[in-house]
Amino acid sequence: MSDRRSRREFMGLTTAGAAGILTRPWLGESGGFFPAPSVQGQQGVDPDLVVTNAKVYTMDTAMPRAEAFAVSGDRFVAVGNTAAIKGLAGKRTQTFDAKQMTIVPGFTDCHNHAGGTTLLYEVLVGNPFEVEFVTIGSIIEKLRAKAQQLPAGTWVEGYFHDDTKLKDKRPLNRHDLDKVSTEHPVVVRHRGGHTSFYNTTALEMARVTKDTPNPPGGTFDRDESGDLNGRVTDRAREVFNGVGQRPSFTPEQREKRERDGIAHISKQFVRYGLTSVHHEGGDLAAIQDVRARGELRHRVSYETSGRMLDAMISNGIQSGFGDEWIRFGATSEHGVDGSFSERTMALSIPYPNVQPPYKGNVTETQETLNAWVERVHRAGIQVNCHANGDVAIDMYLTAFELAQKAAPRPDARPKITHCTLITDDLVRRMKALGAVPAMFTTYAYYNTDKFPFYGEDLMKRSMAFRTLLDAGIRAAAGSDFSPGPFAPLMGIQGMVTRTGWDGTTWGANQCVTVDEAIRINTLNGAYASHEESIKGSITAGKLADFVVLADDPHTVAKAKIKDIQIVRTVVGGSTMYQA
Ligand SMILES: [Zn+2]
Repeated sequence: MSDRRSRREFMGLTTAGAAGILTRPWLGESGGFFPAPSVQGQQGVDPDLVVTNAKVYTMDTAMPRAEAFAVSGDRFVAVGNTAAIKGLAGKRTQTFDAKQMTIVPGFTDCHNHAGGTTLLYEVLVGNPFEVEFVTIGSIIEKLRAKAQQLPAGTWVEGYFHDDTKLKDKRPLNRHDLDKVSTEHPVVVRHRGGHTSFYNTTALEMARVTKDTPNPPGGTFDRDESGDLNGRVTDRAREVFNGVGQRPSFTPEQREKRERDGIAHISKQFVRYGLTSVHHEGGDLAAIQDVRARGELRHRVSYETSGRMLDAMISNGIQSGFGDEWIRFGATSEHGVDGSFSERTMALSIPYPNVQPPYKGNVTETQETLNAWVERVHRAGIQVNCHANGDVAIDMYLTAFELAQKAAPRPDARPKITHCTLITDDLVRRMKALGAVPAMFTTYAYYNTDKFPFYGEDLMKRSMAFRTLLDAGIRAAAGSDFSPGPFAPLMGIQGMVTRTGWDGTTWGANQCVTVDEAIRINTLNGAYASHEESIKGSITAGKLADFVVLADDPHTVAKAKIKDIQIVRTVVGGSTMYQA
């Protein structure tokens, strides 16, 4: 029995047993990978699964639409019409009549912080998955309950705060958080990850006063009277790192939390139709442990930084090392500027309607960035920088242009995480470099309450999928969870309509078609990690990762795309989620 075979069987059984969601997994018993046959199939080989009567959007230009396909092992082996595919079924073949449901390739999220431990163990003061308004009172109440379980001096932390989803219609401030506790440092972290709100005790412990100057790349915000209001942005938050106590865990406890977190979020991913996710860091050992237990339901492109990146460089591990389940991808996002949703990204013009004039935070110098990019690029590792504003994208492209000159490498596909605000010149340079942007998708629906800060003129060139596709750039999807919800259908609805939960429409010139939006969320995602030859479309020979949808996003009302039910999510021929 090959490793591949035992692996798959183990996985299917465990999935069924652990989650109780499967009656019978779609499993192969015939271990190996079959080369792609014609639609007539191979003599003497029964596929494991035959799916018929479906509306299949393959995302393969050679055969964009199909009715049916066959799967052997973890691969598609034939795609075509129902009559031809039905003919491939043998005695041991499972059959699935899709009854005209829609099937698309499994979705790929190219930027996700995959914070399963946060979802499981931390205080969530906002809704991670949906648009939901909460009160400041509810935030105080939740954190007060947490404070009562912790000794004085220990941090009380709240996660998934969204400053524009407050029923109170005013920002949270330090006086609110003083009501949580005056004996604990208290922080509420914005889900965007670039701003946090602190109570007076935390500010005092960090010795921040109203006279403290703003450090480079960050701010201590003040109210009208010049007093600290508790909001602290980007790098100014570093002063809090060394103060206060944090809950401590034994190595065993920590390992368990990481494993539980990965297993938990993996379940969430497949629930929404994601079959591949680019992980921003996270515990690699835990991901492998979860896989070994048969509880990893999605494929991981692992992105790293710091010590692990150094170790990759010094040991010659390049992007692409690994296998179809866990593989080193690009680096994790190397920050160049602030945040789009929290309005700290670096713009070449001042933010509209902000006084005193403010152009956002650049969090890295050009020299440091140049050196980092060249070092990573030379090591054969796909470079990935977080660049939102046009200033930051320009800095990153400059650094990559220099690195390519110093160490030319074809098809390097420098990844631009977010790539939010573009200019014509930036698009031209991206095209020339073969850059792969991973842009916000769910924001167009979820975050319309923030777009008035930028105004329509800037929104016309933000999250500019239309412009980039027209330029021949393979833009991909990057939810940035936790900052954005990761539901691909919410993303697709937003990309197609540019209309948000509040009914407002921003930058409608950047709308894409449903087909383009699906491609961005599937094949372009595979391209972003150099994996387009093995996944991203329903093509014979590729991994059998697909999603069954109750309705067709091409034909339902556009404002209902996000509500389409995910009927089944299949990864490598195994059902990982079933409604
Ligand atoms: Zn991010």
